[in-house]
Amino acid sequence: MRSAVFLAVLLFFANDLFARSAKSSKSSSSSSGRPLVVIDAGHGGFDRGGIPGQRVAEKNMALDVAQRLAKKLHGAGYRVVMTRDSDVFVSLPGRVAIANSYRHAIFVCIHFNSSTRAGANGIETYYYRKDSMTLAADIHRNVIGGAPTENRGIRRRGYYVLRKTTIPGVLVECGFLTNPGEARLVLTSSYREKLAEEISRGVQGKAALVARPPASLHYPAAVTPRQPFGSSGILGTDFVRAEPERSSRHHKSSRKKKSKKTKSSHSKKSHSSKKKSTKKKSGD
Ligand code: ZN
Repeated sequence: MRSAVFLAVLLFFANDLFARSAKSSKSSSSSSGRPLVVIDAGHGGFDRGGIPGQRVAEKNMALDVAQRLAKKLHGAGYRVVMTRDSDVFVSLPGRVAIANSYRHAIFVCIHFNSSTRAGANGIETYYYRKDSMTLAADIHRNVIGGAPTENRGIRRRGYYVLRKTTIPGVLVECGFLTNPGEARLVLTSSYREKLAEEISRGVQGKAALVARPPASLHYPAAVTPRQPFGSSGILGTDFVRAEPERSSRHHKSSRKKKSKKTKSSHSKKSHSSKKKSTKKKSGD
């Protein structure tokens, strides 16, 4: 009988140990050592994103790219958590809380840009924490390589979600939905798939497939990095501050933005607004 009691005690501890390890795996990495990726699709619900009167809702495009990215990273063996997986509103503190509940993780925010100037176009990548520079460069390099649009560079800015998160985080502005040409591209599923593919490659630290010649505007040749950050070692010239073009106010910045809005009264060319219906998925 004594051995039965011993066995019961042993089972109890084994059970407890199992429960503990299951619990801790939530806040640590997968066994492969890869970071868990928290994917944050911008906006959602009543918050369409972008600027008033914008035809293509940012929230839908952001969610679609985020879901495609999740699928790709999952396929590559990453554990993925999404701050939203349907057309719902999640507050900025709510997004941060989700990200901060994981320790060995990275945070990738998907957004699209907007401007009152219809000509504004291109990709820009933001980071805030110093430990996010490599991730920002890896993602930006890949997305720029795959996007036939302007390279607007990588910028450090204290957006709420980047400033309040305790894990490395990057916010990718995947193009201007207020630019007719870029919006038309984004409305095709193949281009959104491409964006997701490139971001996924960046998260995995892969080199860009297409090395684009640096756009002189954003890559002054004279700038040489003193000390490359991180392992990739080819940062530096990406980190050039460009004049902010954006006029959308959807990400709360730590700084007050001097939004010089150039109210243009030009009539925007109407482009087909094939509204993407957002797949409703359960489990947020
Ligand atoms: Zn946004």
